[in-house]
Amino acid sequence: MENLEKAIAAVKEALPGMSLLENEPMAAHCSFRIGGPVRALAAPESVSSLAKVCSILKDHELAPFILGNGTNLLPPDEGLGELFMISTEKLQKLFLLPDGAIYAEAGVSLSKLASFAWQNGLKGLEFASGIPGSVGGGCFINAGAYGGELKDAVESVVLLSVQDQGLYELPTEKCAFGYRKSYFSTHPGCVILSAVFRLQPGDKDEIAAKMRELNEKRRSKQPLELPSAGSAFKRPEGHFAGALIEQAGLKGYTVGGAQVSEKHAGFVVNVGGATSHDVYDLMMHVRNTVYRESGVQLEPEIIILPPDYKLEDKGPKVRGNRITVNGPIENSEK
Ligand SMILES: Cc1cc2nc3c(=O)[nH]c(=O)nc-3n(C[C@H](O)[C@H](O)[C@H](O)COP(=O)(O)OP(=O)(O)OC[C@H]3O[C@@H](n4cnc5c(N)ncnc54)[C@H](O)[C@@H]3O)c2cc1C
Repeated sequence: MENLEKAIAAVKEALPGMSLLENEPMAAHCSFRIGGPVRALAAPESVSSLAKVCSILKDHELAPFILGNGTNLLPPDEGLGELFMISTEKLQKLFLLPDGAIYAEAGVSLSKLASFAWQNGLKGLEFASGIPGSVGGGCFINAGAYGGELKDAVESVVLLSVQDQGLYELPTEKCAFGYRKSYFSTHPGCVILSAVFRLQPGDKDEIAAKMRELNEKRRSKQPLELPSAGSAFKRPEGHFAGALIEQAGLKGYTVGGAQVSEKHAGFVVNVGGATSHDVYDLMMHVRNTVYRESGVQLEPEIIILPPDYKLEDKGPKVRGNRITVNGPIENSEK
């Protein structure tokens, strides 16, 4: 705690112009609209200020938690009084590279990315246009929908390692993308700074029509009118979580302000004043009931905070090209 207070003071001194909210309610920063205050929430305006914040935290033996759009999180009602969060919301660079690939910083929303691809006549990200997360959060979890996954479009990712403060460029084959997981989700301590997307030329009208069709499907099937964090559980192999939950008779099941959506049983929604405990208890009940009824163990897709790691756990030996902002300087695989 003492280290955290010292780190906050040091960050303020080093970056006086940066937005740094203290004791900020998480409910204002996540799509569930749930969660007590986080001790510090910084929003650096550039990759270099973000790196500076991480370096100050490291000097105080602390690791940041990275916040994207907050659309996959369940923060606790009690708050996160011992956490320093860094939001990527201000990392918004988005442009075409000379070779036609798209460069996007971590804070760019997936919908903005998909629409930029459409504007430039590039296809392959239509599936992502309705996913409410950011490029960083999307790469972290390999976000996907309607048969598409980010892994199919990502060419490379640049990350900052919290442990050694190095910048690394990982080509897609080293990102270990799998179903709702990646190298980044299995190695805490990676801050995704940007990604390059390689897409195919396509017909703009066809791309727009595909995005409209998928977004219409999403609107008609998902409870977008209520706060949630998307699918509550991962898809178990050979099943659909929503179908198992519905078959277990849990559609509409409610704990406090949390409810298994009436529209789509795979979603837990906040029907008004839900606490994190309501959601947690509801999810545990769903998990136990589905297991009893079908023998299938559901795994949460929603990330339940606080994170269960400490700085000393964070020594990912990042396998990739160690780079400076201007280009590769050293290959860490040696
Ligand atoms: C209505 C709704 C519909 C959804 N539909 C889909 C869907 O179709 N498909 C799907 O895959 N998901 C879906 N989601 C879930 C969510 O949008 C995705 O998981 C998304 O990728 C989360 O991105 P985010 O920026 O909101 O991440 P956050 O929720 O802010 O964070 C999620 C995790 O990513 C980490 N993270 C975020 N940014 C970075 C970064 N730059 N570097 C390192 N770690 C980072 C965080 O630390 C955290 O552990 C849906 C959510 C909602 C609310």
